[in-house]
Amino acid sequence: MEGSEELRETLVAMRREIDLLRVEATHANLLLNALDSVLCVDGDADPFAGVFSALLPVFEYSHAIVLIENDHAQGTLECAAASRDSLVGSIWKAGRTFSKVLAGRIITTLSSADSEEWPDGIDVGLSQSQPALYLPLRVRNRRGLLMLLRDCDSSGFDRTHVALARKFSLLASHAFAATRANQTEAESHRLKQLTEQLKASQAELTFRANHDQLTGLPNRSHIQELVDAILMRKQPGQQLALAFIDLDNFKQVNDFYGHAAGDALLKRVADRVRAEIRKTDLIGRISGDEFVFILDPFREQAEVSALIARIRDRLQQPFEIDGARIRVSASIGVAFFPTHGSDYETLRRNADTAMYQAKTTSKGSIGFFNQTLGKEAAEKISLEHSLRTALRNRDFRYALQAKVDIRDQRIVGFEALARWVDAQGRVHPPGKFLALASELGLLDGITNIVLDALIDDLPRLDACFGTDVSYSINISAAQAAKIAFMEQFVQRIAGTGRAGSFTLELTEEAFVAAGPFQSRIFPLLREVGVGVSIDDFGTGYSSLSILADITADELKVDRSLITSIHQRPRSQSILRAIESLSAALSMYVVAEGIETVEERDFLLNATSITCGQGYLFHKPQFVDELIRSQTPTMPMPASGERFSSAHPSSRSPQSSALSF
Ligand code: C2E
Ligand code: MG
Ligand code: MG
Repeated sequence: MEGSEELRETLVAMRREIDLLRVEATHANLLLNALDSVLCVDGDADPFAGVFSALLPVFEYSHAIVLIENDHAQGTLECAAASRDSLVGSIWKAGRTFSKVLAGRIITTLSSADSEEWPDGIDVGLSQSQPALYLPLRVRNRRGLLMLLRDCDSSGFDRTHVALARKFSLLASHAFAATRANQTEAESHRLKQLTEQLKASQAELTFRANHDQLTGLPNRSHIQELVDAILMRKQPGQQLALAFIDLDNFKQVNDFYGHAAGDALLKRVADRVRAEIRKTDLIGRISGDEFVFILDPFREQAEVSALIARIRDRLQQPFEIDGARIRVSASIGVAFFPTHGSDYETLRRNADTAMYQAKTTSKGSIGFFNQTLGKEAAEKISLEHSLRTALRNRDFRYALQAKVDIRDQRIVGFEALARWVDAQGRVHPPGKFLALASELGLLDGITNIVLDALIDDLPRLDACFGTDVSYSINISAAQAAKIAFMEQFVQRIAGTGRAGSFTLELTEEAFVAAGPFQSRIFPLLREVGVGVSIDDFGTGYSSLSILADITADELKVDRSLITSIHQRPRSQSILRAIESLSAALSMYVVAEGIETVEERDFLLNATSITCGQGYLFHKPQFVDELIRSQTPTMPMPASGERFSSAHPSSRSPQSSALSF
């Protein structure tokens, strides 16, 4: 999945918003019920029983009391209704708190009513330390108030409650006015209007809570409800297919064309899929660039395959957006009910697994779930579990790989590379855990462990290599855009007083688009004096074009360009272009992944690159081993000898058997 970390954050935010909307919609509905009970009672009948029960789930109170100004005794209030019957008719004094409420204020307190206001001679049975909410209420043209009390040990009422109380206070007062026999036309008109408004906003809230605002499609929770309802009605032998669509390269579209174009694209994707499916089918958007659709009914699976292939082909046609021709593809995974699951969540997960597998094989393809995939998914879950435990136990270390001056092999710097050392002592490279750690939101923790350990080791490293060498740390593009994380990370480096010894390696994706990295973090790095390196240069989406927008200190040419460079004229031309651009922009060039003497010799003889990194010189090593292996420089191997990455045990002049 593309930019999974960013999408995950968006998803979490969307879920939070939807949950809030759902709560708001429910509250609006309950308030309407409360009003209904005011409006529906005849004559002098008590409307409060209905009001109390409708308000209970909204305000979660333990006691509700309605007090009305007493015409017979000035400065007192009479209890007109209460959730505890014995209080009805009791007389309360209008002290400071009550007077403010009668004058129209809503008040919340953590310890309940001013005891002076409480009725004499009656055991109210209430404690003085209950959180309370008071709201004004005009009942049949008399001033009054509603008092809601919670149990002593519960939390107080918050701002949302106050906002709801305000709405209720206003509407209920109008409702009481309207039920009076001498109600005026204007009053009843106003009440009708208010009730209509509340009903409309409730309908709107319900729609918004169930639908994605961008595409208007059912959202994650609604599609789940719809599908589960369909599945409940299924008879034995009836099938259903659930397909999971994920757009390929959506993140790049967003980065390259901007978020407005990204949004427009999502709408158009939804339209195209909607145009292909049948009336009985369903489609929903469940997160950023992920959609599900339900094919129901169908007779043979071939029907499903044909329809899905048609949708996939339609999505491959270019989209014209704001004058740009944008091409995307979609990877689609399918799971069948009941074979692959009997509820929405299982079907969705299995279709997602099938999609992921299809995307890994080839973007824009279709995959059908099978039990082998289920096994792989189970392995992923187990890895997820191990990774979370590993982070809790801080089972991550770092290895250092030297950057050398390729003319004399002098070490000029080191790159810190994360390693996971599992409970059995096995060392896993980042390829095994990085993507998943990032997807799970664990990468920041790992990066902090690497930095902490490196800072702890600095004195030993200084003693061995001097203080002139630099130390690079890799930061993913998603991390680079997280302001809070990066600020804390950079401050930690600055705290060493050696910011100039550190460099952050970022891939090109971190630099594209005017994101938070460019506007906030990059200037901070400059201010503090931490170096910036563009890692894996030449593998990204935009490569040369980003150099126009950003100045970095170092540019690391990706291994894919360096491998067999002496035999590849096209790569040589590209390297020359990179080299001259870097020179013009005063960037220091490092060649990554030098494995053979021929590659090194080409760089030495045909380019001006002097810095390199690769197995030919050093493999990554843990600090203890690195320091121990510091022996006087040995002669370089003769031409033709190669240190293969596939064989970690292969000889390298300065790496020990423990290197990896
Ligand atoms: P990278 O930053 O481009 O690091 C270089 C990778 O190439 C390292 O792999 C290194 O061991 C490998 N390498 C170096 N010289 C040679 C060579 O001559 N031949 C071959 N075949 N490979 C060579 P490693 O340690 O597996 O790291 C892979 C990638 O994982 C790194 O690529 C970097 O993007 C990422 N990474 C590593 N540590 C961290 C970390 O702490 N945080 C983040 N965000 N990413 C990390
Ligand atoms: Mg790197
Ligand atoms: Mg690299």
